[in-house]
Amino acid sequence: MIAEMLRDPSLVKAAGFINGQWIDAEDMKTFEVENPSTTRLLARVADLGADETQRAIVAAHQAMERWQSVTAKEKSILLRRWFELVLEHKDDLATLMTAEQGKVISEAKGEVVYGASYIEWFAEETKRIYGDILPATTSDRRSLVIRQPVGVVGAITPWNFPIAMITRKVAPALAAGCAIVLKPAAETPLCALALAELAQRAGIPDGLFNVIPGTDAAAIGQVLTSHPLVKKVTFTGSTRVGKILMEQSARGVKRTSMELGGNAPVIVFEDADLEKAVSGVLAVKYRNSGQTCICANRILVQQSIYERFLELLTRKVAEFVTGDGFDVSVTSGPLITRQAVNNVDALVKDAVSKGAGVCIGGKPASGTGHCYEPTVLRDLTADMRLAKEEVFGPVAPVFPFEDEAAAVAMANDTEFGLAAYVFTKDSSRVWRVSERLEYGMVGVNETAISSEMIPFGGVKESGQGREGSKYGLEDYSELKYICMGDIEPGVI
Ligand code: ADP
Repeated sequence: MIAEMLRDPSLVKAAGFINGQWIDAEDMKTFEVENPSTTRLLARVADLGADETQRAIVAAHQAMERWQSVTAKEKSILLRRWFELVLEHKDDLATLMTAEQGKVISEAKGEVVYGASYIEWFAEETKRIYGDILPATTSDRRSLVIRQPVGVVGAITPWNFPIAMITRKVAPALAAGCAIVLKPAAETPLCALALAELAQRAGIPDGLFNVIPGTDAAAIGQVLTSHPLVKKVTFTGSTRVGKILMEQSARGVKRTSMELGGNAPVIVFEDADLEKAVSGVLAVKYRNSGQTCICANRILVQQSIYERFLELLTRKVAEFVTGDGFDVSVTSGPLITRQAVNNVDALVKDAVSKGAGVCIGGKPASGTGHCYEPTVLRDLTADMRLAKEEVFGPVAPVFPFEDEAAAVAMANDTEFGLAAYVFTKDSSRVWRVSERLEYGMVGVNETAISSEMIPFGGVKESGQGREGSKYGLEDYSELKYICMGDIEPGVI
């Protein structure tokens, strides 16, 4: 089993984590976690539900009250210790990640470092939560603004980044003075539970960070969005589920942050450095086998360079090797489930049936595991499902376009608005296009745009709120205005 693969086997936890205690489900139910590369069983994890979620919320509320008397400096030291422990256990965490999620081990190590960077960042930012003193409206008054934690946070995260999507939420919540109850994806609970173990070892007080592994996402989500003690709901996942959670949260007027689906365009103009554009597309399209919300979903290439671009891209994609992420010669791991492979294949078949050409790939890979062949498709048109839907797989649909106006119109022709990328050497065009793109993030001649220091988030149906950066704390705090009256002017 998985514990034998770790230097520190005690990082493998199969129970829920509430108020600093590892607990089984009240009815002793468990669910299976599978390795998507081998389809073998990795672990049986406690299958918690609505009752345990309620207990966790009450514990979080109590822990949060105590957390208020901890100074910013003390909070910072505890978060920093957690950051250091995550890095110390990088190899073990990466092993857990490759085992349950499938991404290749080098990418898994990269994600541990990236995920840890959010803890480090918010360990620093917690010391910079400032108030303000405003001009007084009358001479016997003073007007103050202080920032306070929003309250207990309910968090729901996906399987594609089993560590980074969690630290992005937990670290700012704790830094802002909140406590958090997290439901990780049922496909990848082991990374979440290992993070909780390390938080406890770091001395983060019991009850501040609770983890509810479970398969009844709707029941757990219902409690997290309706319990009166939860004041904020933060979610990363599909737009479909995000809308459900926003509707449920609206009944109690809870604040929400939503990181939802994307349909990222990469626009390659004829004046671009073609080699760099191809490298950028390779990095942002095939990372995590295409399973990220800022993955290139539509590659828009100007007609005059279309054939050359396709030739270069296809030649590079031919070098990819699919298989088990623990094999260091493998560049592309499996998709998360067989259903995911079927979904990707249906989108490819739809495009081909409507006239798209296959430059390379185009079908599920042979062998065990849920692999799909790295694919390049050409001659895509707006009537194909790939123009509208997030593919979440290693498929690059390459659309031709005529001119700048057409490219921007195609790029914006979607209800999503998370990330967009532009390749051009024309600096005027950089500004014109960047300003017109209806996206929360734009990469110009660069596709590796994410870090803990930038505000990650989208517009339109890609969500609301920002994670990371100095703006990332705002989602977890409220402004309070205090009016101090009856101040006697006196004589000095
Ligand atoms: P993905 O396609 O990435 O699996 P989902 O939105 O389905 O996206 O899942 C993201 C997270 O949302 C997972 O933790 C999943 O268990 C959870 N989830 C799915 N359906 C619901 C729901 N109805 N209420 C609350 N959480 C849900």
